[in-house]
Amino acid sequence: MSHPRGPLAQLRRGHEELVLGLLRKHGPLSRGELGKLCQLSRTTLYDILAGLVAGGAVVAAGPQDTPRGRGRPAETLTLNPEAGQAIGIDFARRAVHVAAVNLAHEIVGSASEPHDADLPWEQRVDLAERLVGSLNDGGLRLGALSAIGAGVVGPVGWPEPEDDPEPEDDLEPDEPAHPVQPLLRERFGAPVLLDNNTRLAALGEAIWGAAAGDRDVLYLRLSHGVGGGLVVGGALHRGAYGLSGEFGHITVDPDGAPCDCGGTGCLETVASIRAVLDAYRAAGGRADDVPELVKAIRAGDGTALTLLEGVGGTIGGVLAAVCNAIGPSVIVVGGELAETGPALIEPVERALRAQVMPVSRHRVSLRRATLGEAAGALGGIALVLHESPLLSRYPAGPDLAPDLLEDIKRRQP
Ligand SMILES: [Zn+2]
Repeated sequence: MSHPRGPLAQLRRGHEELVLGLLRKHGPLSRGELGKLCQLSRTTLYDILAGLVAGGAVVAAGPQDTPRGRGRPAETLTLNPEAGQAIGIDFARRAVHVAAVNLAHEIVGSASEPHDADLPWEQRVDLAERLVGSLNDGGLRLGALSAIGAGVVGPVGWPEPEDDPEPEDDLEPDEPAHPVQPLLRERFGAPVLLDNNTRLAALGEAIWGAAAGDRDVLYLRLSHGVGGGLVVGGALHRGAYGLSGEFGHITVDPDGAPCDCGGTGCLETVASIRAVLDAYRAAGGRADDVPELVKAIRAGDGTALTLLEGVGGTIGGVLAAVCNAIGPSVIVVGGELAETGPALIEPVERALRAQVMPVSRHRVSLRRATLGEAAGALGGIALVLHESPLLSRYPAGPDLAPDLLEDIKRRQP
């Protein structure tokens, strides 16, 4: 599909979306049927269809038998199942995760690869391109790509609403919000919507994952960083400066360790992967990564269990405080450290129930995340499909194929 700006291009884009929407809703249609449904002039419709066919978004599905064989069978047009409409990319601290949906809004696949924390942005984009290329057994066609939704670590700057009367026009600001934005735009030839990657994971879990259907959700990710996202009243909450959901930088020990954010004794200095592994080794344990820590826990290692009891208590205390402030009905805990299972989650839950306001004690539900490492990339796709870089209030999630989501969930550890 076309990406140039200006009123005529916007009009054309609108017509393309109209035609694609009809094919998504009704399945294969002949040109005549499309003409009746879309109410565009024959010339305009044929012009739009020619563009969509040339771009690979729409394919001819062969003649459909007309009832009782009257007249020449009409050729029908259908969405190309191999044409990607949106790509979601999560640029986490030490890994790239990608997912894509086709024009029918079905997930065509997801993929991930870890990398060193200091990998330059050009190479992270190389990695993302390679992972996207591996989706759908390498058969994903990007000619119809409408946009990329990318998540990055840390706050993401957007133009203030008063400077941005037409958000669609502001997808290419003079100053990129992040160095990865121009790199992605150049590589994939599509607009790039950016957000904080953990907030996108919260969005993914709130639309399709552990909190699907819930309108007030607190999502916490325990990974190399500690962060989260809030859904308040059915809308993803961004905060005045894109800083909503930074639960990892709530102070838990004023005399604690210095934090990467410049603060002291933040939750992240206690509950990040590095903090937990360092504390475990300092207590005499041996583990180089989370899977080794999980192995020690499964073997009943007392040092690991005692450590996680303390870390879980601290996390639960922070969650209780945030709960009292925001009033979520669901708390979702994700990230690699959640894979330590009950050894961490049970002390989290005990501290939460003990410290939250008693009236909330049995009302708030604590759940493990279900989308795994694909959550942030799926949130990026949600960002694109809703076509709002601000997402101040977003409507109900689009119709991603449930069986493919199940498949993604099954592949999580
Ligand atoms: Zn901090």
